[in-house]
Amino acid sequence: MLIVKKFGGTSVANKDRIFNVAGRIREEYKKGNEVVVVLSAMGKQTDALLDMAKEINPSASKRELDMLLVTGEQISVALMAMALDTLGVPAVSLNAYQVAMHTTSVYGNARLKRIDPERIQNELESKRVVIITGFQGVNKFDDYTTLGRGGSDTTAVALAAALHADACEIYTDVDGVFTADPRIVSKARKLDEITYDEMLELASLGAGVLHNRSVEMAKKFGVQLVVRSSLNNSEGTIVKEVVKMEKMLVSGVACDKNTARVSVVGLEDQPGVAFKLFNLLANHNINVDIILQSIGRDGTKDISFTIKEDDLEEAVNILESHREGSLKCQKIDTEREVAKVSIVGAGMMANSGIASKMFEALYDVGINIKMISTSEIRVTVLIDETQVEKAMNAVHDKFLFAM
Ligand code: ADP
Ligand code: ASP
Ligand code: MG
Repeated sequence: MLIVKKFGGTSVANKDRIFNVAGRIREEYKKGNEVVVVLSAMGKQTDALLDMAKEINPSASKRELDMLLVTGEQISVALMAMALDTLGVPAVSLNAYQVAMHTTSVYGNARLKRIDPERIQNELESKRVVIITGFQGVNKFDDYTTLGRGGSDTTAVALAAALHADACEIYTDVDGVFTADPRIVSKARKLDEITYDEMLELASLGAGVLHNRSVEMAKKFGVQLVVRSSLNNSEGTIVKEVVKMEKMLVSGVACDKNTARVSVVGLEDQPGVAFKLFNLLANHNINVDIILQSIGRDGTKDISFTIKEDDLEEAVNILESHREGSLKCQKIDTEREVAKVSIVGAGMMANSGIASKMFEALYDVGINIKMISTSEIRVTVLIDETQVEKAMNAVHDKFLFAM
């Protein structure tokens, strides 16, 4: 069997953790399996590198940031190969350049396009464990790129697909996928299984346990994922197309604090205004999430929307620079201290009243809703960031507790 195992930052944060992981890899290797390992940078190393860059140059180019960030994963893979060597397991570490992991050109948010499996296959044939840097790739300019925060999960799934692996295991610091982040909602329960669609929604709405693109890719290539702890032997959560369990109305609650609201006030109430506004943002790769437009009054209207808080400065600069020109609006108003709270569940499709039940839960704890957005399998509200913990617990209690 060929098995891809991915270990996140906390799982390789120090010497003891590295040897703990090396021990688990040795167990798998001793069974006669081929093992490909994907690692994240140790602990909070990626954050530390970003802080270091900020001190030198707060507006450093994304190319140079990627050049810096890829070093984090190179440290962990090299140390892991050394640890395996001391345990008598032949291993080789490879970075994205050595493997040839081709991505799109967008620094900081590249997408994997193609992986050449040859080098990895040769190493596996030589009976080595292959340890590969997560989160990074190489673009058509032969530059390093990164896949977005949390992107090592996507590296693992892409490798599992490219190598036709028999299993893809994501090891992390919790026992699996829970009904909510167990660090925020103490009553959250571990799920035995979850569908790709529900997991994709949860991941996209802020459940950082899996990178959302990894789920997208797993669904596309039919890679079944197991999310489990690197610190114990509990079963974990299987992420797959169809689950056996009776569908729950709501399978999870997620929150995303990396959110900001922008309101463009006093736009002309004319055809083409929304197009002009969102086209400006799209041209700069800024993704817009919840959109709310007011009814036109006295020939003007307002459009509010949410974006990633990381994109706020750039978005405001772009909009301000067009405010008196093509955009023609009175003012641009922003709010940083907001967060999204969402419920996700395939069972929602056939049941009315789910949204109102969520709003009731928030009303019961006195939380004001700023914006609302829904799809067939989710409801999202925008609230004050300071109230996220209270909101998550109230909503989780309403739908998922006492089951
Ligand atoms: P890794 O470094 O292993 O990739 P991450 O920090 O990226 O770990 O992801 C694991 C974390 O995801 C957990 O520690 C937990 O706080 C958070 N998390 C958020 N939502 C969920 C959820 N629904 N289920 C489990 N963990 C979640
Ligand atoms: N080290 C990267 C990050 O912290 C990638 C990852 O952990 O998946 O975002
Ligand atoms: Mg992660």
